[in-house]
Amino acid sequence: MKGKKRIFLGILAVTFLVFTLVVLGILYVINRGRIELYKYLLITLMIFVLFLMALIVAVIGATFYVVVSKKSNKFLSSFIANFLDLFYPFVVFVARVLDLKIEKVEQSYIEIKNFLFNKNIKRYAPQDILILAPHCIQYSGCKFKVTYDIDNCRRCGKCQINDLVNFKEKYGVNVAVATGGTLARKVVKDTKPKVIIAIACERDLTSGMQDVKQIPVYGIINERPNGPCFNTRVEVSKIEETIKKILNGG
Ligand code: SF4
Repeated sequence: MKGKKRIFLGILAVTFLVFTLVVLGILYVINRGRIELYKYLLITLMIFVLFLMALIVAVIGATFYVVVSKKSNKFLSSFIANFLDLFYPFVVFVARVLDLKIEKVEQSYIEIKNFLFNKNIKRYAPQDILILAPHCIQYSGCKFKVTYDIDNCRRCGKCQINDLVNFKEKYGVNVAVATGGTLARKVVKDTKPKVIIAIACERDLTSGMQDVKQIPVYGIINERPNGPCFNTRVEVSKIEETIKKILNGG
């Protein structure tokens, strides 16, 4: 397993061990007796935890299978994607206990989701593609309001909004700039894209990818040379590469 994918899956494996301890703890309490009243409650809880453990094994196994196999497998990919979201809070909890950087977990989650996206990529028409960028990518001193309407950009080239407008003109894709999750959701509702290329920080991308379950999302993490949420940047070649991949169906 290459790259950052193993971080998320590794913590998921640790989560499995934590659940094992929970099951052993429940068995210990049941065997000590004197808890007749709660016995069936504990057994139900134990069965639930065992079910989660079986799911973890299935998710890790399915991910390995999809990584190793050269073919796309839509069923397995959507199984992995849905259960990654289910286990995400557990993985973050375990990562916090282990004092790991949550940003690394988010990067790993985004990498797995992007990997699944690439595995099942389909051809879409330009008008079905939405590039969703964060407001902080706009030059802070710019007086033109590009949220809602990116065509308000005067193309001075001081920030990469200019590049996004170029993509809109060159490929005919939709481009929107959102100031936050609420506006981003509104843009998605209004534009009704069939596929999204989302640019944001790790935290916003992770929550956005969990929010939008019905539409495939490819996430591109922004660069923050001036600190968070201020004059951020993005690797535009990655955006263009993804647009081409989507337009060509892989
Ligand atoms: S490229 Fe557009 S958005 Fe960026 S600073 Fe210039 S006019 Fe403003």
